[in-house]
Amino acid sequence: MILTKERLSKYLSITREFSESRYINVNPIQRGGVLSKEARMALLEWGDGYSVCDFCPPQAPRLDKITKPPISDFYDDLAAFLGMDEARVVTRCREAKLITFLMLSKPGDYIVLDSLAHYTSYLAAEVVGARVKEVPNSGYPEFKINPEDYAVKIEEVLKESGKLPALALITHVDYLYGNLVDVVKIAKICHEYNVPVVLNAAYTAGVSPVDGKKLGVDVIVSSGHKSWAACAPTGILAMTSEMASKILKTSSIEGDISKRRFAMKELALLGCTVMGAPLVTLMASFPYVVERVERWGEELEKARFVVRELERIDGFRQLGIKPKMHTLIHMESKSFYEVSKKHKRRGFFLYDELKAKGIVGLQPGLTKHFKFNVYGLTWSQVKYFVEAFHDIARKYGVEVR
Ligand SMILES: *Cc1c(COP(=O)(O)O)cnc(C)c1O
Repeated sequence: MILTKERLSKYLSITREFSESRYINVNPIQRGGVLSKEARMALLEWGDGYSVCDFCPPQAPRLDKITKPPISDFYDDLAAFLGMDEARVVTRCREAKLITFLMLSKPGDYIVLDSLAHYTSYLAAEVVGARVKEVPNSGYPEFKINPEDYAVKIEEVLKESGKLPALALITHVDYLYGNLVDVVKIAKICHEYNVPVVLNAAYTAGVSPVDGKKLGVDVIVSSGHKSWAACAPTGILAMTSEMASKILKTSSIEGDISKRRFAMKELALLGCTVMGAPLVTLMASFPYVVERVERWGEELEKARFVVRELERIDGFRQLGIKPKMHTLIHMESKSFYEVSKKHKRRGFFLYDELKAKGIVGLQPGLTKHFKFNVYGLTWSQVKYFVEAFHDIARKYGVEVR
């Protein structure tokens, strides 16, 4: 293939149709990653390649040792913010999990996880050669995880393999129903067996207060582009000092000819991780994030308001635990499904109607049930959102009580 000028021209002015200024985007993964204005500026300033590496200290050449920009301080502050002793920024939440699983387990070990865990939790387990043991959920309509079932599953692993699971993973809030689990209770149960607890806070840390010490967990992983007003790829890996001695173990390999060693480098991080703009956006948004988690209560009020208003529509019912403890909402919408059967655009009618009203982020084609996230929308946007649904319902003869 010849890379003609015409062929390459499409890369020259790539615009984003669903930018924040043009649409209300309620896609669950998009709300917590909208940049602060400081981060948007930082992105321009630090966009060049290895931009943070100008002042890497030659005697200790490592990302977390850089003081200009203040990465070293940031890692301390990030750990403190999460109630942990050590923190590192990696490329994604999934990488933080992979690093944790790799350093805490051996091939063949079991990892106990909740049955609403993100697919990347399973993949990370598979990469490191671990087996998984799922903690069940209660199914429709609540999909609730019972903390005591962690004990049941740890016992099962013991019986099957003769040893304890390498770790237990708790999904703080799951991506399907936005259910919040009782971390304190689960962590206590796991610790009675001496099983380390990893908290997946991809949907919680950065938008709501998360304190690992109070929750009693050993490791926290999270996603900068999902919940910390940072651009991709950024992930957070925070842990107790005890875990740090295992997870952040340094390299011991030696070149057989050159005799070179890299004893300074953290092995599973492959030395350095995010060496440019994404890390700086995470840092630039940090003061904003520290402040915004205190306003979580109001975000919950908005979520509960939306549930209340949408459930006025005939056939609408919120799935998952009530009342909402998170802004990710899964709605069953039987009446709209009935509408879709007779509509010439079938299931796409809802997407079309919403887009015409400037609302995007619902999965196109879905009407029987759908999920969305109202985090960070203003009250007037939230009201506009529910009115849009009421209007669509009335247009198709569905009752709004
Ligand atoms: C979104 C999500 C992830 C993936 O986060 P990345 O930073 O993109 O890897 C992992 N786990 C859960 C529970 C999520 O909701």
